[in-house]
Amino acid sequence: MIADNGIFNFFSSGTWAVIRNLTLFFVAVFWLATAFWVFKDARRRIEDPWLVGMATVLGLVPPFIGPLIYMLFRPPEYLEDVRERELEIKAMEERLSRRDMHCPVCRAEVDPAFLICPVCTTRLRQSCANCKAPLEALWQVCPYCETPVAPSAVDLGQTQALAPPRRERS
Ligand SMILES: [Zn+2]
Ligand SMILES: [Zn+2]
Repeated sequence: MIADNGIFNFFSSGTWAVIRNLTLFFVAVFWLATAFWVFKDARRRIEDPWLVGMATVLGLVPPFIGPLIYMLFRPPEYLEDVRERELEIKAMEERLSRRDMHCPVCRAEVDPAFLICPVCTTRLRQSCANCKAPLEALWQVCPYCETPVAPSAVDLGQTQALAPPRRERS
């Protein structure tokens, strides 16, 4: 089987072929691996499947340079991080809006229209002396019937403010 031109030549050329094939094989594997990495990374950062596909093609087509270009232009954040942040902001907004809906004394949940906390009877809002509409703390006049708000009743949220309006009502 061994040709006349010597074992050494045959061996060296065979080794050369093996090395060349192995190198090509590893380069191809590395090429596909980088493209696959681009696909995986793009899927975590980009919502639009078409853009993910385009990123993957870019990861494949100029081999090894495409992934570098992708890395320069990819969205800076993961989609889950964006979603998590949005959820956090939503939760924070909810918490802030809910803070107004609690009694300042006993923390019981109260309706914004309540004049008094049903749990601890703290006065939450002043009501108009004329039309009984709930008034905001800063209002100087009832917007529903134009009756001026009594200045003595302005200190809201205070437990002392409980007594006078009650007497007014009865
Ligand atoms: Zn209360
Ligand atoms: Zn009024």
